[in-house]
Formats: sequence, structure tokens, C-alpha cells
Amino acid sequence: MAANTIRKDIITKVQRVVLKLGSYVLTTPSWKLDRKVFSDVIETIADVRARGREFVLVSSGAIAAGMGRLGLRERPRLIAQEQAAAAVGQIGLMGLYERMFGKFDIHVAQILLTHGDLRDRQRFLNARHTLHSLLEYQAVPIINENDTTVVEEIKFGDNDSLSSMVTNLAQADLLIILTDIDGCFDKDPRRFKDARLISLIENVDSDIEQLALGTKSKISRGGMATKITAAKTAARFGVPTIIANGKTPGNLARVLAGEEVGTLILPEKNKLASRKHWIAYTLKPQGVIQVDDGALRAIVEHDRSLLPSGITGAQGDFDAGEAVSCCDRHGSEFARGLSAYSSADIDKIKGLNTADIQGILGVCRNPEVIHRDDLVILREG
Ligand code: GLU
Repeated sequence: MAANTIRKDIITKVQRVVLKLGSYVLTTPSWKLDRKVFSDVIETIADVRARGREFVLVSSGAIAAGMGRLGLRERPRLIAQEQAAAAVGQIGLMGLYERMFGKFDIHVAQILLTHGDLRDRQRFLNARHTLHSLLEYQAVPIINENDTTVVEEIKFGDNDSLSSMVTNLAQADLLIILTDIDGCFDKDPRRFKDARLISLIENVDSDIEQLALGTKSKISRGGMATKITAAKTAARFGVPTIIANGKTPGNLARVLAGEEVGTLILPEKNKLASRKHWIAYTLKPQGVIQVDDGALRAIVEHDRSLLPSGITGAQGDFDAGEAVSCCDRHGSEFARGLSAYSSADIDKIKGLNTADIQGILGVCRNPEVIHRDDLVILREG
């Protein structure tokens, strides 16, 4: 299929869009909210919504806007100061969204999340129900990380990752990431004049991941690397991603019209179910379980559960029910899953037959250490 037909095909089927707006897109060089960008984006959303599509926004810009309001030139060094700037900026950000969407009689809703809100399945599902209710009320949910109260353990880290988790949370079918460059290039366009835009990525492989490295920026927490990782995460949920320049007037409208703008990253054909996607891409692995070649083959080639007999070791300090990485004997991660046993118990039962668990631990709660329903394969072989 020709590239422009692929775009049109994707766009025609889209019902629900997650739109991520970066800090540089939403602010001017002196960290003031960029009204031109707001009005361009919001007019486009109002127009496309009127034709039956739904939008969930993931908006950065709180810290940057806070810096503008507080007259700070540089990002504050102390975490508490940065968190204070976010609190000042978030209110200005939402105020402007409310006023500008209000011109089209559209309600906006603020949702401030930490990773703690999504890592518990029940809370994840509660957040999903709230999002769905907001969409039924025809409101536009606007999500940001709760920068003011977040601490390291419950951080998403960057809004690109957050936006890819939101594709699952909101059950969206397109992720658009608006940033301040035109998309993913074959070289860093800030350093090389002959850098060329890649308009279509069929599959995020290690070459693409390498290309995207090394484009960090000062204000937003991501760079191209986090955008490409976000696109890969969305792809596993069957969701295509378009990365485009949000500073170019009219670009969002062009993206939503299926025009060749920015970089399109295609979804994977074998879409993961929501719960499996959540296990692999929303949860953060709390440790590692190392397996032998037999267990690797049984899991990857025959879709089996992980039994104690195939385990050679466990690293990290995790409890039963927590997410872990499964690594082969070279230490390379090939799967993620929910461990039915703690790291301390795995240490005692590794290499043993399931029948021996009771004798060692006094009770056998589960024959498998990770049941295949709780196991997600990340790579073949
Ligand atoms: N949550 C941050 C903010 O609103 C931005 C995080 C990011 O740039 O990814 O300022």
C-alpha cells in the first residue's frame, strides 16, 4: 500500500485520539503560554470533534508555564522549586484551555495522575471509567503528571510514556505526539543539515531506537527516544502513532486529514489485550527472574507458563503479585509478567519441581511462578 493510502486508511477509521502536547509546543521562548498554538490546536479539535471523533489530551507545559509566571529563566534545580513551579503553571495552563475550549462550548476536565494511580489494576480501571464518563459528557479530558506531589517511586518520568499508557487507559486508536521538530529524522536535524525526515516507520527496531537516542532537551523530560519508545508501546496495543511539529500552524489539521506530515509509526498486527499491555508497559518491573534455555523455549515457542524448575535466579526485592522482567541466560529481557512468588521464595524453590514447593515453603499456592495469562512475551526467541 502506498504511504499516503496507509495514512488515509488509518485516519478514516480513527474514533478516539490521544493527543500529547509537549512543553516547547505550548510555550514561547520566554515560557509564556503560546496562544497562537492553543488557538490553532483547539480550533482543529473542535472541528474534528464535530465530525464525531473524541480527544483525550496529555498536556505538558506546567513547569514551563510556571517558570514564565514566576519569571524564572532556567529550570529550578531543587525538586521542591520545580514542583512549586508546576503548581503555579498547571493552573494557568488549565485556565487557558478552559477559556479557549469554552469559545466552542466544550468542557475541559483536569486529570492529574501519578504512576501509583495506574499500577493498581483496580485504580487503573477506575480511572478508565472516569475517562469514559467524561467522554460521554462530551468533555475533553486533559491529563498531566501530578508534578507537584509526585516522588521518584510513583513517577511516570515523562509525558511521552504517560501518553502511551493513556492509549490503553482510554482505549484509543491513534496517538499523536506534537513536538517542536518535524518528526523522526535519519540524523539529528539540529546538528546535520542533510538530515532527512522519516515519514513511515513500519516497525520500531533497534536501528530506529539508536537513531532516536541523543536528542534530549532542557525543559521537556523526553527527547525523540522517549517518543519512539512511546510509539512502540502504543504499537503493541494496536495503535499507530504520528509524531509531528506542533509549532507549524495547521499541522494538527493536516495530520487529522491524513496528509503526509511528520512520522507515522505503524501498529503491530498482533495487538496485546489491555490487561497484558498493562502488565508489560504500565507496570514497572520490580526485579528480574533469570531462566534456563528450556524455560525460554517453552515460554517463547510454546506459550507455556514459567515453572520453578526453569528458574536459575532472581534479582531485586519483590513481593508476590509484583511485575518482574524475565531474562535469558545472557541477561537479555524476553518477557514480563506478574510473579506469584516473592524474590525470597523464588530463591528457595528455583530449579525445583513444582511438587517440591510445598515441602520447602510449607504451602504451594501456585504450581507456576508466572502463569501464562500473566506473562507477556517481548521478543521472539
Ligand atoms: N509534566 C511536565 C510538565 O507539565 C512535563 C513532562 C514532560 O515534559 O514530559 O511540565
